[in-house]
Amino acid sequence: MTTDVSLHDAASQLVSTFAGQLLRVGDSGYDEARRVHNGLVDKRPALIARCRGVADIVDAVNLARDHNLEVSVRGGGHNVAGRAVVDGGLMIDLSLIKGIHVDPKNRTVRVQGGVTWGELNRETQFHGLATTGGIVSTTGVAGLTLGGGLGWLMGKYGLALDNLVSVEIVTADGRVLAASADDNRDLFWAVRGGGGNFGVAASFEYRLHPVGPVVTGGIVAHPFGSAGDVLRLFRDITASLPDELTMATGLLNAPDGSGTKLVAIVLCHCGAPRDGEGAVRPLKTFGSPVIDVIGPMPYCQVNALLDPDYPRGALNYWKSQFLAKLSDGAIDAMIECVARCPSRMRGCGVILEHVHGAAARIGVEETAFPHRRDGFSLLILSQWMDPHDNDRCMAWARESYATMESFLATGRYVNYLDHDETGDSVAAAYGPNYPRLQKLKTRYDPHNFFHLNQNIRPLS
Ligand SMILES: Cc1cc2nc3c(=O)[nH]c(=O)nc-3n(C[C@H](O)[C@H](O)[C@H](O)COP(=O)(O)OP(=O)(O)OC[C@H]3O[C@@H](n4cnc5c(N)ncnc54)[C@H](O)[C@@H]3O)c2cc1C
Repeated sequence: MTTDVSLHDAASQLVSTFAGQLLRVGDSGYDEARRVHNGLVDKRPALIARCRGVADIVDAVNLARDHNLEVSVRGGGHNVAGRAVVDGGLMIDLSLIKGIHVDPKNRTVRVQGGVTWGELNRETQFHGLATTGGIVSTTGVAGLTLGGGLGWLMGKYGLALDNLVSVEIVTADGRVLAASADDNRDLFWAVRGGGGNFGVAASFEYRLHPVGPVVTGGIVAHPFGSAGDVLRLFRDITASLPDELTMATGLLNAPDGSGTKLVAIVLCHCGAPRDGEGAVRPLKTFGSPVIDVIGPMPYCQVNALLDPDYPRGALNYWKSQFLAKLSDGAIDAMIECVARCPSRMRGCGVILEHVHGAAARIGVEETAFPHRRDGFSLLILSQWMDPHDNDRCMAWARESYATMESFLATGRYVNYLDHDETGDSVAAAYGPNYPRLQKLKTRYDPHNFFHLNQNIRPLS
């Protein structure tokens, strides 16, 4: 075990070459740097290495390995389970590494590991280009892509990881490897879904597509009393969607903080505006909405629409799983759950993301991410602000998950697993791909150096 003295000596050695910042308890900026999106996460690393480039990452990895320190890796810091931070070990923080280089001619972009989706979209949209990313602009590209990447463009262009051209990775032994269709192909397969298990991804190269800048998007919301009808409409419409249209629905608290519950549909149509207008008509002509802001809007705006619902520091506890099908019984159960929700906070509730089109046409074994059927990802998103509410808000999510249990499929989305979901939950997230992932983990990280993640155990 590393002592304070040896850690101090090691950190001192690094100081002369490290281009970024090294922060320890008591240093100015330490508390801000250890905080992540989920306010429930309160871990204190012995050392935070705020890297500035690949050489800093390599130095940090070597330091941790040589001094037997536990390591966590922080991209955007959005992981609900707080896997980006470690108690007592070394946190490799990439949030200062924000290089973005768009190649408009070849329609690719290379981004470094600390970039968020809002930052990436701003640069690519400048050229009228985009790739599938998260639906909240403050989420990190790194963790989201390494675990999957559900987003507005997935119907047309697949998940975020389906758009990867190459990844630059620092492995547990301090090597810098390129992973792509040409280089280290098995590693490239593994990082497209395998999360942070195989190394620190220093940078990512994505394919870009012509998108917008104006697309058809927005939110329509109805009173909670119409929830059953709206969810059945959502089910009917999603049964035959064009690839360009990706939709999610939620039974959620209203934006005004009153705790009034609503049923909302959020969407993005990335095709021609006239096609988008036609595709969303059935939604715009249905019932008597209390909110209707669906129409032409910049793609970057669609990607930031939900940002105010999910502020940094809010207390979060999530349960999630794919649905077997959206039956009437499942709809009734969702309504029953949300009616009991104790939090008034906007954005809190039960969400269904519809996966279809290009994201569902890839083979189960083509990438490590295996969930390749048309269907719905169910997310019970408990969110609140007052720590006195911790127990009842977490209990609500657990009880709701139990209520939904008979309607669930076996598959789980690795990026939505919370801190208390390990072992079987991770295996369920990888399904038939888990044995191959374990073999590759054994090859690239035999001692499980990178284990503060949704951990794939190496074979002993
Ligand atoms: C408000 C909100 C909205 C979200 N929206 C979406 C969405 O639209 N679609 C979707 O698919 N998911 C979404 N997510 C889930 C998201 O995919 C995960 O939270 C993801 O882990 C976030 O990545 P990050 O880099 O921000 O997180 P971090 O907490 O920094 O990291 C997450 C995990 O990835 C590892 N990691 C991070 N960076 C690297 C790296 N460079 N190299 C190696 N490992 C690394 C970390 O160690 C950790 O295990 C959302 C989450 C939140 C909180």
